[in-house]
Amino acid sequence: MSAVLSTHGLVARYGDFQALYGVDTELHAGEAVALIGANGAGKSTFLRAIMGLLPVAREMVRLDGEPVGGTPTDRMVRKGIAIVPEGRRLFSGMSVEDNLRVAIDQAARMGAKGGWTLQRLHQLFPILAEKARTPVQSLSGGQQQMVAIGRALLCQPRVLLCDEISLGLAPKVIREIYAALPEIRAAGTAMIVVEQDVGLAKSASDRLYCMLEGRVTLTGNSAEVTREQIGEAYFGAG
Ligand code: ATP
Repeated sequence: MSAVLSTHGLVARYGDFQALYGVDTELHAGEAVALIGANGAGKSTFLRAIMGLLPVAREMVRLDGEPVGGTPTDRMVRKGIAIVPEGRRLFSGMSVEDNLRVAIDQAARMGAKGGWTLQRLHQLFPILAEKARTPVQSLSGGQQQMVAIGRALLCQPRVLLCDEISLGLAPKVIREIYAALPEIRAAGTAMIVVEQDVGLAKSASDRLYCMLEGRVTLTGNSAEVTREQIGEAYFGAG
């Protein structure tokens, strides 16, 4: 099966500091892949490198087999990749609906086609309809996360990148947000879920990659990898 998104020896640096050391990954159409690893392992850097937010060589990222590494972020979105960034980055001072309308307008300008509409989003997260006129800064963290996911979906992505969407949220809210992911996949969107909670990561994915200090240290079927394997890959053996 050919990959919708793949990385090939992906290397990324912040000045003199090398954050990724040749990361090889594959994501197939409709698949959910989890990326786990400790703080500082390079997970967010990996997503940023894919999104064109860090300089990477063209051949290091492929979309449908086409080299796209280093493509500017807006063009990556146009090509069908959207990110739910760490920290959500909503437009403060604007209502829920206005935040979402920015994505709708952007998608329209790009000529993006897909099934995500405000109405469908309201079915996925009913609270977004209830809070449509509420300024986003007045929402709870979980509600803000739903807006961030909604905004990404309205770009009609084939691939959704989620950066620690459970961070700082209460367990009940985390369950609610993660319960929406299968529905998003059912709509044909593949996803890479960066997650520190290993149990959550496993339950939300078909396969997982574990990173340590900028390298992939484990890859396997999420249902099959053992606690011991993950422990070793997470912290390094010895
Ligand atoms: P976290 O869970 O803390 O977000 P992570 O696995 O996502 O961890 P990254 O944020 O990708 O890790 O960071 C990987 C490494 O790159 C870390 O050592 C971090 O200190 C470094 N790093 C991240 N962003 C920058 C930056 N803007 N400038 C310099 N170094 C950075």
